[in-house]
Amino acid sequence: MAARSAIVIGAGMGGLTAALRLARAGVAVRVIEARTGPGGLAAGFELEGLPFDAGPYILLDRPGLEWAFRAVGLELHEHVPLQRIEDIYEVLTPDGTRVRFGADLEATAGAFDRQWPGSGPRYVHYVNDVAKIYQRLEPLQRISRPGLWDLLRSGGWRHIPFLLRSLNSVLARAGLPPHLCDALAIWTHIAGQRVEHAPSPLAFVPALFHGVGAFYPTGGIGRIPTVLAAAAQRAGVVFDYGVKVTAIRRQGGRAAIVQTDRGETHTTNAVVSNAAGVGTYLDLLESPAPALRTRLEKLPLQSPGVIAYLAVKGAIAPPYLRFYLPGGDERCRCLVTPAVLEPNVQNDGWYPARLIVPMDHTRAQAVGPEGQREYLDRIVAEPWWREHVQEHRVLATRTPTQWGSDYHLYRDSMNPVMTAEFMRAGRLAHRSAEVPGLYLTGSATHPGQWVSFCAISGVLAAERLLQDVR
Ligand SMILES: Cc1cc2nc3c(=O)[nH]c(=O)nc-3n(C[C@H](O)[C@H](O)[C@H](O)COP(=O)(O)OP(=O)(O)OC[C@H]3O[C@@H](n4cnc5c(N)ncnc54)[C@H](O)[C@@H]3O)c2cc1C
Repeated sequence: MAARSAIVIGAGMGGLTAALRLARAGVAVRVIEARTGPGGLAAGFELEGLPFDAGPYILLDRPGLEWAFRAVGLELHEHVPLQRIEDIYEVLTPDGTRVRFGADLEATAGAFDRQWPGSGPRYVHYVNDVAKIYQRLEPLQRISRPGLWDLLRSGGWRHIPFLLRSLNSVLARAGLPPHLCDALAIWTHIAGQRVEHAPSPLAFVPALFHGVGAFYPTGGIGRIPTVLAAAAQRAGVVFDYGVKVTAIRRQGGRAAIVQTDRGETHTTNAVVSNAAGVGTYLDLLESPAPALRTRLEKLPLQSPGVIAYLAVKGAIAPPYLRFYLPGGDERCRCLVTPAVLEPNVQNDGWYPARLIVPMDHTRAQAVGPEGQREYLDRIVAEPWWREHVQEHRVLATRTPTQWGSDYHLYRDSMNPVMTAEFMRAGRLAHRSAEVPGLYLTGSATHPGQWVSFCAISGVLAAERLLQDVR
């Protein structure tokens, strides 16, 4: 049976690569997107003449994004000029300690050694060790739900003990000073996750930024979905923007009918959902199986946190990212300064910056919109991020409730939290085991929620669909 047609719900990173991959294979694809443009959480926008990315700020996995682009017939570097970030991030703590990471491994380790004698060579050793594991496991990111056979074939089986550990346990074995361990775990802290629950592959991040590098696309991350949407349109994909899917209905047991808030009914051979994975099952499908409902409802969710979009004046001082770890139960904070990389992006001396702070999903739900706003106001009033800022204006903010309504998120969450346990159990499958004809893409389906992973997930979902109809 050939899939003559497919409907993709959502034009986020996963929806866009899925749509393009299917269109290239000759499938007639319609993308139905509730927002007025493509990109979802990875989209960019403008405020008072200054460009902003809604959420994401760094590409830590350029090879993964390149792979996804190639899989949809595009060369990333031809479409998205990428800047390697040299002075990447610094982590401040209330005791005045600063831990700073640059792309250059020797220089970064040298600075650690001066701060904590003996830590430099140990850091180099740690990075080289995780880099070797990364090399072996990296290909598994491009397989839909890798199993034992994939681990055996790739040689990844040697690293099963590593995969069974949490990030905390990997860091504990490195023999590095506690401040350095906290700074290495920052990608977990900024995701609002506890290090003891975080999966070990997060340890790969320093191997990536000291190896292939960390990148920022000139013009912002939003350039990536813009390029994909334009390519999809050229490949014949039809986009319905400003239309929300309200239900996926079955015919003969298969997902075959998509209903929208415009009262339209589309009949299709297959449905690819880039809407929230859990929400697709629980909100869009009629009567999901009770066991599935119970399993999905148990998954802890990840809040997008709070964010302030700022116009600032003052010295443009690297590094690109400044994290603050207050300690105790307080969450990490991050100041993103794109002007470090694009100093010409200014308006009348004001340049764009963002304050990004995670928030626990349960807490966000408990305190509601007002409590979320108070939390954000309290953080904006903190002094740490104004070290180089003379003046600032808050141009806009987003709380979890606003993210939820602006981006059509399931219960104001980005996806289920990526814990070590959830990674081992497997994320939501690209091909639904419960509903034939339904495929899932996006951050709920891949072992990681980065833009690159979501792009890969779209390709994998499309390939599952194409395999099924071959
Ligand atoms: C604050 C923040 C910072 C981040 N930082 C980084 C970073 O530095 N680096 C990085 O790589 N990643 C980062 N991320 C993660 C990354 O942005 C996301 O994981 C990724 O963009 C999600 O892509 P997705 O394919 O899952 O789809 P989404 O972006 O969730 O898009 C789904 C789309 O589906 C649409 N939709 C939903 N329901 C319906 C419906 N019923 N009908 C029609 N359309 C619907 C939505 O409107 C949306 O456009 C960050 C995210 C946030 C929030």
